Amino acid sequence: MSQFDALYQEAQKYIPGGVNSPVRAFKQVGGAPVFFKKGEGAYVYDEAGKRYIDYVGSWGPMIVGHAHPEVIETVVETAKNGLSFGAPTVSETELAKRVLELVPSMDQVRMVSSGTEATMSAIRLARGYTGRDKIVKFEGCYHGHSDSLLVKAGSGLLTFGEPSSPGVPADLTQHTIVIEYNNPEAVKAVFAEYGDEIACVIVEPIAGNMNCIPPQPGFLETIRECCDQHGAVFIIDEVMTGFRVGKYSAQGLYGVTPDLSTFGKVIGGGMPVGAFGGKKAIMDHLSPNGAVYQAGTLSGNPVAMAAGIKTLELISKEGFYEDLSAKTDYLIKGITDVFAKHNRPLSTNHVCGMFGLFFTEGEVKTFSDATRSDIDFFQKFYHGLLDEGIYLAPSAFEAGFLSSAHTYEDLDETIAAMDRVLTKLD
Ligand SMILES: *Cc1c(COP(=O)(O)O)cnc(C)c1O
Repeated sequence: MSQFDALYQEAQKYIPGGVNSPVRAFKQVGGAPVFFKKGEGAYVYDEAGKRYIDYVGSWGPMIVGHAHPEVIETVVETAKNGLSFGAPTVSETELAKRVLELVPSMDQVRMVSSGTEATMSAIRLARGYTGRDKIVKFEGCYHGHSDSLLVKAGSGLLTFGEPSSPGVPADLTQHTIVIEYNNPEAVKAVFAEYGDEIACVIVEPIAGNMNCIPPQPGFLETIRECCDQHGAVFIIDEVMTGFRVGKYSAQGLYGVTPDLSTFGKVIGGGMPVGAFGGKKAIMDHLSPNGAVYQAGTLSGNPVAMAAGIKTLELISKEGFYEDLSAKTDYLIKGITDVFAKHNRPLSTNHVCGMFGLFFTEGEVKTFSDATRSDIDFFQKFYHGLLDEGIYLAPSAFEAGFLSSAHTYEDLDETIAAMDRVLTKLD
């Protein structure tokens, strides 16, 4: 029994499954989801007023912490001038400029309202630009829930044990080729077979939807080479990694240049913003200049732009990522030591502000490695931590996130709580 059972039951009367995005439903860990009322810095507070140290951060966007005073101020001030015009505002140019400064692979960028929209639109643009239909994606990578991309797509579907979704016509997914993540040979093989039919390859530069799996050396580089050889568009989906793993995102970190990039999450600082952009020669094919259609009533919404501009200003400060990275290193080392002390298997991956805990032995490099994680153990561990006031993502296939608001005291408290929970489970 959870204190949120009543709220959850009420929600389920009116909302399918009681939630507006499936993984929130706690299906993998069991019980009613926590209903939140407030967030401040590294903390979230539930409807009963209990405080949790938060490692979800709204699934990534809250990199400067919840309700950052400067972000809230600009949002409130902007809202006073009206919520939406459906016409140009200078805030759109300002956010575009700021994003392009940080992502030199892009000459131009278009704003949308979610990561799903960004990747869906980038795929359409790649197909329109090349005049080809086939797309290549990787097992366990999630790129939003548009039809073509909803094949072997990681966490949400994994949590529910479905490889794909009913309602997606086979006629559509036949154009989607799925190969193993971190396997350069598979990339070469798919190009050898389908070469000139491939419109694009889309990849998470660090897989963050089958927990956290960084790219092996040579993997992203091989995709780049194959796309060049065959005239295919290379799309790096930075919806999760963008401005999360470094000021210049994952492409900056690994020194790989895509043709198109997609963004979401951090770019809106908690407001609904997505973006896609790339080389001008490709972006020129987009409506109204070109024939590839894409649009959005609320795209470039001024309040959302204001939150994005301020968030990007805050992350651009000297030392921001060094600090975030040091904190994540500290947390992961602490967790690793605690698991070793209790003789529990644990494998970890982390890159700057994102991390993955796998309850298994050995390195985790692919989707099938990730699925070895002990889910029965995770359920008990999860609820133990929830009682302790530590909020992790309610699925073993989701990455964890830190914010600049987390202090070393918060991290020590988290590590000590894990120690107590493991003691109870011994
Ligand atoms: C979250 C995510 C998406 C989808 O973004 P939404 O805003 O949830 O539609 C796409 N790609 C990646 C890599 C993501 O992590």
